[in-house]
Amino acid sequence: MARSGSITDEELQRRCQHDCQARCCRYITVVLPAPKHKADFDELSWFLAHEGISVYVEGRRWHLEVRNRCKYLTKTNLCRIYEDRPEVCRGYETEECEYPERPAHALHFDTRDEFDTWWARKRAREKRRRRRRARAAKA
Ligand code: SF4
Ligand code: SF4
Repeated sequence: MARSGSITDEELQRRCQHDCQARCCRYITVVLPAPKHKADFDELSWFLAHEGISVYVEGRRWHLEVRNRCKYLTKTNLCRIYEDRPEVCRGYETEECEYPERPAHALHFDTRDEFDTWWARKRAREKRRRRRRARAAKA
C-alpha cells in the first residue's frame, strides 16, 4: 500500500482496500542478474516451472516475481502493521501505483513454455547472426 501523493488518504484507502484489493501486498519482486550463459537461461526456465512465479524485464533489469500475500495483510485488505510497515512499503508512491493496470514490460513470462519458446527463438536469431558475420568475414 502506497503513501498518498495527489489523492487524499481516504481516497487512497478506498482504492487500495476495495477497488484494487491490495494488489501490491500480494507479491514480492527480486532483481536478478541478467542471464548470459546457457545455465542462467536454464535456471530461469526452472524458476518458471513453479507456481506463482513470473519473470520480467523492466528497462534492462531482470526481475523475479513471487506471488505470495504478505502475512500482515488483513482479510479486509488493510495493513496490520501500518505504523511499523517496512521502508519498501512506506516509499511506494501513488505515482508508482499499478492499479488499474500494471505497466507493460518489454519481456514478461508467466510460464516455462513462454520462456522456452522465446529462448529458442533468441538462440536461432543469434545463430543466424553468427552465420551472417562469418559469411561477411569470408567475403
Ligand atoms: S497497487 Fe495501488 S491501489 Fe493497489 S494496493 Fe497498491 S497502492 Fe493501493
Ligand atoms: S507490510 Fe503492510 S503495506 Fe507492506 S506489503 Fe505487508 S500488508 Fe502491505
